[in-house]
Amino acid sequence: MEIDYAEVGLKVGLEIHQQLDTRHKLFCNCKPELFKEEPKITFLRRLRPTQSELGQIDPAAYFEFQKGTRILYEANEATSCLVEMDEEPPHSLNMEAVEIALIVALMLNAKPVDEIHVMRKTVIDGSNTTGFQRTCIVALNGELDVKGKKVPIQHIAVEEDAARIMGRESSTVRYRIDRLGIPLIEVTTGPVIYSPKEAEEVAYAIGRILRATGKVKRGLGTIRQDLNISIEQGAIIEIKGVQELELLPVVIENEVRRQLSLLKIRDELKARGLKEENIKEEFTDVTEIFKETKCKVIRKAIEQGKNVFAVKLPRFAGLLKLELAPGMRLGKEMADRAKFWGRVGGIFHTDELPAYGITAEEVERLRLTVKAEENDVVVFVADSEENAIDALKAVVERAKETIRGVPEETRAANPDGSTRYMRPRPGAARMYPETDVPPIQLSQEYIEKLKSKLPELPEQKLERLMKDYGLNRKLASQVLDSEYSELFEVIVKESGVAPTVVATTLTEIMKALKRDGVEVWKVSDEKLLELFRFVGAGKLAKEAIPDVITWLSKNEGKSVEEAVKSLGLSMLSDEEIKRVVKETIEKNIEIVKQRGKGAFGPLMGRIMQKYRGRVNAEKVSKLLRRYLENFA
Ligand SMILES: [Zn+2]
Repeated sequence: MEIDYAEVGLKVGLEIHQQLDTRHKLFCNCKPELFKEEPKITFLRRLRPTQSELGQIDPAAYFEFQKGTRILYEANEATSCLVEMDEEPPHSLNMEAVEIALIVALMLNAKPVDEIHVMRKTVIDGSNTTGFQRTCIVALNGELDVKGKKVPIQHIAVEEDAARIMGRESSTVRYRIDRLGIPLIEVTTGPVIYSPKEAEEVAYAIGRILRATGKVKRGLGTIRQDLNISIEQGAIIEIKGVQELELLPVVIENEVRRQLSLLKIRDELKARGLKEENIKEEFTDVTEIFKETKCKVIRKAIEQGKNVFAVKLPRFAGLLKLELAPGMRLGKEMADRAKFWGRVGGIFHTDELPAYGITAEEVERLRLTVKAEENDVVVFVADSEENAIDALKAVVERAKETIRGVPEETRAANPDGSTRYMRPRPGAARMYPETDVPPIQLSQEYIEKLKSKLPELPEQKLERLMKDYGLNRKLASQVLDSEYSELFEVIVKESGVAPTVVATTLTEIMKALKRDGVEVWKVSDEKLLELFRFVGAGKLAKEAIPDVITWLSKNEGKSVEEAVKSLGLSMLSDEEIKRVVKETIEKNIEIVKQRGKGAFGPLMGRIMQKYRGRVNAEKVSKLLRRYLENFA
């Protein structure tokens, strides 16, 4: 079913976070890079918000806190110092990052602030060793023209990236702090985007401006989009961490479908006559029923001395297994809540039973025990009493929200475009001043100086790419939207390879390789340039480019020369071509005798099949024609 986005009243706001390519981190001199080796340094912390810092406890902060997790941080010396470890106050703000953000702000017609104030934003999921993220607004009230529509830019900020999560083992989370402190620019639009496609267009337009500075990082994880999405009668949902631009429309469509489905469920429950007070926090110990169960998860839990607790959700039959949107069901939403609030592995519910080794008899006994009627669903959990009760309380709360419609929450994006529950929506007033970093004044002269040397605007660059390099509009746009828009011109100038070949490689071929799972971001700009120099010098055929890129991505640090050698791609010399042509004629002498010059097609095909990427097709064709003529 097509969705009429105007009719459902879709409103989307974007928040784009892009890592900046600076010489050092935002508040210290460490390298803004990630490391792959085993960590040299580890330390354990448990974060807790202090009442004085928070004023009143923020629900989102409290939520993370109450989960009782411990955090193991990993670091090495090149990428972290005492600042990231929260053992030393932050150094002064990195002005290189501020300047990049100001250039973006001015290109977006935003008004720079007179004075930059660094603020602390409470984050206690452990991704910041301090318990907060440092952020500062550098400009306000910009505007971006996207296909004739003025999209308001609310603010442009600079902030520190968080530590990256490496794993989770029972109640311990592992974070690596190499990423902590890498400068990010945040660009926030007003909630005036009315369709998934428009969201993608706005994101691309902002991306073009960011890349025009020539000072942004590229590769997986260097850009992250957060969204807020609402529809009429629905709720404002925050979705965090969309990593691929192409995924934005999918995430938005899925979220609209999810909200519409939840509204339908609300209406269905009303039609079934259900009221909130009918859903009761009555939890029954049903361990006895599962003493002999064939369900491995439950049996293991019982063997560990845990119990099985159940709750009845009246009149919910059939609704938990309904697909809200691709990959999302009400039962899963309840399970996500139960996992977070109850620290359990998951839930079982009768909408999906018998299954998982649970028999129809067990389900029947369960229904009898909690006095469930045909139209009721029973949800149950196997865990310690405390966890199981917390989990079922969260399920009951989620069930009650279903009667009200769509609950406000923060969700996280999955790589397939679906989303999962992350935490409740944060309350207001999460910011307070960072007292360790003094404010920075921005003088009018400084701003004027930046204004006088702004980079070329994307639309100007588009025209220039078409004019100077003979690219058509489509290819020129693709170059502009790719991460290689700067590199493109360098390569063309220094390699002498035809601009369309360079452009196609950096856009379509890179995309295709990425789709095939090739980690193209591992191939550095220098390597790409070297590769095209090989092609330009006639040492490598352009047909071999994808294979070389693939090889280089798997052999970081190795040279193009080594790639060519290892892949057996070195070009045949003129002498070798002569030999190959002669041999091919000799081997296929029957065809040549029969068809004379007509043998050209099949023979050429055979040679190219064997030597594509290693010979210049024109040379082969000339030679082959001459030989065939002589033969006849
Ligand atoms: Zn540092």
